[in-house]
Amino acid sequence: WAKADGKSRWALYDPERNAREVARFTLSATMPAALERDEFYVDYQPLVRLEDSTVVGVEALVRWQHPEFGRLAPDRFIELAEETGLIVPLGRWVLRAACRQARRWLEEFGESAPFVSVNLAVRQSRDPELVRDVKRILDECALPPHHLQLELTESAIMGTADEPLEALRALSDMGVRIAIDDFGTGYSNLAYLKHLPVHELKIAGSFMEGLRAADEEDPVDVQIVSTLVQLAHALRLGVTAEGVETPSQAKRLHRIGCDTGQGWFFAKPMTPGEIDELLRA
Ligand code: C2E
Ligand code: MG
Ligand code: MG
Ligand code: MG
Repeated sequence: WAKADGKSRWALYDPERNAREVARFTLSATMPAALERDEFYVDYQPLVRLEDSTVVGVEALVRWQHPEFGRLAPDRFIELAEETGLIVPLGRWVLRAACRQARRWLEEFGESAPFVSVNLAVRQSRDPELVRDVKRILDECALPPHHLQLELTESAIMGTADEPLEALRALSDMGVRIAIDDFGTGYSNLAYLKHLPVHELKIAGSFMEGLRAADEEDPVDVQIVSTLVQLAHALRLGVTAEGVETPSQAKRLHRIGCDTGQGWFFAKPMTPGEIDELLRA
């Protein structure tokens, strides 16, 4: 009894939980100043065409170089930024950084330069200024719209409101590419998908686990990935597999007919300078 009692007390005054809450609060409160002080930066991860290993695009992934806590991954602060609304200016900052970088690659490598793929949070997809912001940033960077892709999750696209859809249509009409991120983990309305202004499906990394050497693969995962690839192609969309970590996964995906891969097997997220080297090689 004493033990059970002690346990429930710990549940109420859990010091670790308390520390986590304090850390969350601190991060959340200091984020606006961090944005001002340029503590955020962007890494880029190659999107590789499976047919010939060409780097067709790069995904922009934000990081926070925190003066006290060191380098923070987006999982530590994106959700907080969504809660406080800071995601809108932060997301705009990432978009501008990525478009500027894309412009530099365009100047150095010409039309074969990779497009940049930028993640949009749900809150950004519902921001009435979204289309205007994107247009202004593309103009400011003199970046042709097809060098920009925007990644939205199923929940951002399949929401109830019409505004995000109208915004996506306007962006797509402008020539910006639209991708659905982490596809297969949400609750997409497939009938609806047919009418969406989308160019690319990115299959969530969780399905890649079962794609191993032939004798040890998980037939269910293989079937799911094949079905999603066929679905994308039936809708005349491109399809990218996320979280590709091994050569056997890459080979299997190629045989399945997937167009593009992203993951540690090809390259980890890296600095713009490292992307330069990769593109020159
Ligand atoms: P995501 O958009 O699905 O991005 C892919 C994530 O998978 C990245 O994590 C990437 O580093 C990781 N990854 C890449 N290859 C592999 C692999 O082979 N195996 C495994 N296990 N993971 C791999 P990261 O950089 O930590 O980003 C996490 C999430 O944070 C992103 O997921 C995205 O939803 C969000 N995020 C990142 N940058 C931004 C941003 O600028 N704005 C918004 N709104 N969200 C962002
Ligand atoms: Mg993404
Ligand atoms: Mg993803
Ligand atoms: Mg994600």
